[in-house]
Amino acid sequence: MSKGKLLVLSGPSGVGKGTIVKEVLKLRPNACVSVSCTTRSPRDGEIDGKSYFFISKEQFESMIGQGGFLEYSEHFNNYYGTPKKFVEEKLLSGDVILEIDVNGGLSVKKSMPQAVLVMIAPPDKEALYARLRGRGTEGEDVIAMRLDRADYELSKAPLYDYTVINDDLYQAVGEVVKILEEGEQDND
Ligand code: 5GP
Repeated sequence: MSKGKLLVLSGPSGVGKGTIVKEVLKLRPNACVSVSCTTRSPRDGEIDGKSYFFISKEQFESMIGQGGFLEYSEHFNNYYGTPKKFVEEKLLSGDVILEIDVNGGLSVKKSMPQAVLVMIAPPDKEALYARLRGRGTEGEDVIAMRLDRADYELSKAPLYDYTVINDDLYQAVGEVVKILEEGEQDND
C-alpha cells in the first residue's frame, strides 16, 4: 500500500521548479524527488543517479519495451522518462515529486489518477522570456523553440489540479507543501 503522495511539478524551464523542490524537501523529510532517465549527455556538475540516470538510446528503448516507464517523452531530440519501479518503491515510504513536462504529467495522471498535478507559473512572462533568451550562446532557432515550449507548458495549466505562481519563493514553497499536506490524515 502506498504511503505517500505522488506530486507532479511542471512549468516552463527557467521558472524555478528545481529551487522550489529543493526547499520543499527541507520541509518534508519523507519526500523525495524521482530521478528520471534520459538519453541526453550530462551537463557540467550533473551526477549520474542523482540528476538523472544517463542511459543510451538502446537502453531507453529496451526499457520502453519492458513497460519500465510510468511515462516518457522526447524533448530536443532526446528521450526523458520516469522509471516506474523507482516511483512505486519510493511511494512506500513517503511522497514522491516528479519534475516533468506537461505531457508527462498528463500521462501520469491517466495511469495513476491519484497523482496531484501542480503547474509552476512565472509572475511575469516577459521576464521568463528574457531569461530563456539570455541563457547560453544558442542560436535564434533554439531560443525560439524554447519560448514556444514555455508557452506550450503554460497553456496546459487549466488541465492541472493547481497553479502556483513563483513570485515569492517561500510563498510558492508554502503552497506546494500545503498541497502535499492536504488530506494527509486519510493517508495511513
Ligand atoms: P533538461 O534537459 O533541461 O534537464 O530537461 C528538459 C525537459 O525534460 C524539461 O522540461 C524537463 O521537465 C523534462 N523532463 C525531465 N525529466 C522528465 C521525465 O522523466 N519525463 C518527462 N516527460 N519530461 C522530463
